Amino acid sequence: MDYAKQYRLMCPGPVNVSERVLNAMTRVEIGHREEEFSVLLREIHRNWLNIMGLPEDKYAFVAISGSGSSANEAVLTSAIGADDVVLSLATGEFGRRLGDISKIYNPHTICHHQDWATPLDLHAIEAILAAQHVDWVTMVHHETSTGELQPVEKVGALCAKYGARLFVDAVSSFMADPLDLQRANVSIMTTSSGKAIGMTPGLGLVVGERAVFERAATLPVRNYYLSLARHYDFYQRLGQTPNTPAILLFVALNEALRIILEEGVENRFAFQAAKVARLREGLDGMGLHLLHPDHVLSNAVSSVLLPTGLEFEALRAGLRERGFIVYSGKGPLKGKIFQISTMGAVDMYDIDDLLAAIHDVISK
Ligand SMILES: *Cc1c(COP(=O)(O)O)cnc(C)c1O
Repeated sequence: MDYAKQYRLMCPGPVNVSERVLNAMTRVEIGHREEEFSVLLREIHRNWLNIMGLPEDKYAFVAISGSGSSANEAVLTSAIGADDVVLSLATGEFGRRLGDISKIYNPHTICHHQDWATPLDLHAIEAILAAQHVDWVTMVHHETSTGELQPVEKVGALCAKYGARLFVDAVSSFMADPLDLQRANVSIMTTSSGKAIGMTPGLGLVVGERAVFERAATLPVRNYYLSLARHYDFYQRLGQTPNTPAILLFVALNEALRIILEEGVENRFAFQAAKVARLREGLDGMGLHLLHPDHVLSNAVSSVLLPTGLEFEALRAGLRERGFIVYSGKGPLKGKIFQISTMGAVDMYDIDDLLAAIHDVISK
């Protein structure tokens, strides 16, 4: 069975990938202790920092074979120490998850969790930071469950003022919505291969200040596979990963990064914005409304209110029949919204086709 291009995956991950990325994953047989793997990993490292505009002497990148959550768990258990005070910010499912994972490992975790899809209360956050010492603030850049961007730069400025480090989960925003780690004062950031980079899932990706990786090496060891100190050490000394990596995904990741560099980072962001504008215009033309059109929305995912009288299941099945995958809302948004992603190898004509399919389904 040919699983490629069966459906247009317009859901918040996984995403469709380009032919070049698909082809890169075939006929790969190399050893991860051999020099060709080190050459590959070093090229990935260089391409990654290049795309993000980060200096190699200050920042480092590691790739973990696992989903996006593996990268988050690696940060929460190995960059952050058990004695660190963590302030977890959330306005939706994924921010809450960071808090939930942190509480398992870090007893001094304070949760500032607001109602879903409410703008982050910066005054309340500053009050917490002013009242007590906080080592780390955790937040998501794009809260995928609502489709809203969080004010990372503003939180970063508060972190700078009160001497806290900032960890940002940019799993669903990386390459869809720009984030300048240096300007926003972000110490460490995670993402996944399977979202806006335009790759298949399977790699948890971490980029952060070398100082954070070096500090991780001084903390008591709390895990083995997800230790960022071990990943950093193996890369620094050998250009390798500590354990057997998903080698073919590394080859495909590098292909995805090369494509971004060939297109130009700015052009990629502009295309993301153009795609989402076309989608939202088309939805508007059909009388479909976004969840909170006045909030700061991502270029990755659109949360659309279900029209009255239409159950999500009927919409999902109708679109699937027509070759499109969309997702339901989660938590309090279940039954209220559906979500459309414009990440990955989605073109303007895919958006037009999806709009036509939605029109077809809702008019039946
Ligand atoms: C998708 C996603 C994750 C990670 O999900 P995995 O299934 O582990 O890849 C984490 N955070 C956000 C914001 C996400 O959108």
